[in-house]
Amino acid sequence: VTQLVWLRNDLRLSDHPALHGAQQQGDISIVIALTPAQWLEHNESSAKCAFREQLINDLQDKASTLRITVHILKLNRFSDCANAITSLCKEKKYQQVWWQNELPQHEARRDDKVEQALDKAGISCQRLAPDLFVSKPVFNQQGTPFKVFTPFFKRWLQMLSAQDRTPYPDLEKQLEPSESTQTLTSKANFRSDLWPPKLDAAKEKLWRFCHHKEKQYEADRDFPSMPGTSLLSPYLALGVLGPRACLEAIEYTSEQGNRDWKSSVWLKELAWRDFYKQLMGHFPDLSKSKPFKTETENVVWNEDQEAFELWCNGETGFPIVDAAMRQLNQTGWMHNRLRMITASFLTKLLLIDWRKGEQYFMSKLIDGEFAANNGGWQWSASTGCDAAPYFRVFNPTRQSERFDPDGEFIKRFVPELAPLKAKEIHDPTADLRAKVNYKAPIIDYKIARSLAIKAFEDLK
Ligand code: FAD
Repeated sequence: VTQLVWLRNDLRLSDHPALHGAQQQGDISIVIALTPAQWLEHNESSAKCAFREQLINDLQDKASTLRITVHILKLNRFSDCANAITSLCKEKKYQQVWWQNELPQHEARRDDKVEQALDKAGISCQRLAPDLFVSKPVFNQQGTPFKVFTPFFKRWLQMLSAQDRTPYPDLEKQLEPSESTQTLTSKANFRSDLWPPKLDAAKEKLWRFCHHKEKQYEADRDFPSMPGTSLLSPYLALGVLGPRACLEAIEYTSEQGNRDWKSSVWLKELAWRDFYKQLMGHFPDLSKSKPFKTETENVVWNEDQEAFELWCNGETGFPIVDAAMRQLNQTGWMHNRLRMITASFLTKLLLIDWRKGEQYFMSKLIDGEFAANNGGWQWSASTGCDAAPYFRVFNPTRQSERFDPDGEFIKRFVPELAPLKAKEIHDPTADLRAKVNYKAPIIDYKIARSLAIKAFEDLK
């Protein structure tokens, strides 16, 4: 065995450019580096870490049927990777190491260090493009990154149409027996009923979604009580599904329904994933907790820890916000519409620093993904690239009436409000709140909104 493939946030065996490319050159082994201290520093949730471990177990089982060895390196931090991977190569006599680049700064720095260490040891290195739908940088006519999504998407779609979209071929079974596997055991829990930690489960979910829901996605996706979105984010965050495999499913269902795959609204949502990831590569400051719009560094954020905790715990007295935060705390996932509502609530109505919300989300989400989370928070806080304008402050009650009209979602996560009628549930009267023991709103929407707008206008 001469080729070693390092898997990171691309935990899969199929539709994988590095695995495929490496196997063209010789027999392969896989290495996965566990860096729990680093993940903790990145605020990754215990649910995501446990999900990852169980996926790695499944990946090892599948790899062993192909006689592919998976080395698990139990390290602490990214800075341990260079030595550990180089030593492994020397010990096992691997001649070449393959991986797909990652764009955030810590990851990019780690990869440079590994490359340097391998180079010193005379081991070559194949660094492939990042694991994106359009892996080349999507630039405008001036050759610079797009700062607005819509023109990015237009160009992205052109590039995607022009590139090879066939999934990478499956791996071949190797001749030499593989080394034994190391089962990882984690005590942390996650909702394995919602997200089975199996590589095949991700594929099944993808195809089921594309067959039955993708067509309806545009109509259903904003209603949190409906299963209108794919719920694939935990798998996509860890790269369990390859971009081309996703495209294959979209193209197939579009063709079956006589639709043009390029007009898939779901595909457009996936483009946001590429948009935010590419931004990480172009603007290193984003990896340093800096806002994209530098002038917003001067916003005077509210230091109210008590209000922050009430928001975290889903005790703001705004039913839709509380239901959403409880969904996050109980399941490790939150519907996109609710991520926008709760993030707007924290950053605008409570005027609390978006970085606190970003960190809290990351520490709870099973799909926590740095670029998407940072992008979503900076969008909501109006500090980001192509962000919501600063005067756009979601009205939680209006959002609730519009996107959870019967209060079905609220009742699921705030059961004390279940006795209320649809008309009453979005903003119950003081009497009703007292009756069902639900707290009063922690802020007055109108006053909080004008303070938020003022805080941004003061920057001018
Ligand atoms: P679907 O609607 O089925 O979308 C399919 C996939 O497209 C998603 O799984 C995701 O990979 C991608 N996607 C969709 N919307 C976005 C988006 N706006 N930005 C980037 N990628 C997108 N998404 C994450 O994957 N991880 C995060 O940590 C994360 N944090 C967020 C924080 C905030 C404040 C906001 C507003 C959004 C965040 N998102 C994040 C984006 C989005 O909310 C989730 O991707 C989506 O809710 C996941 O559910 P789904 O898989 O059913 O999505």
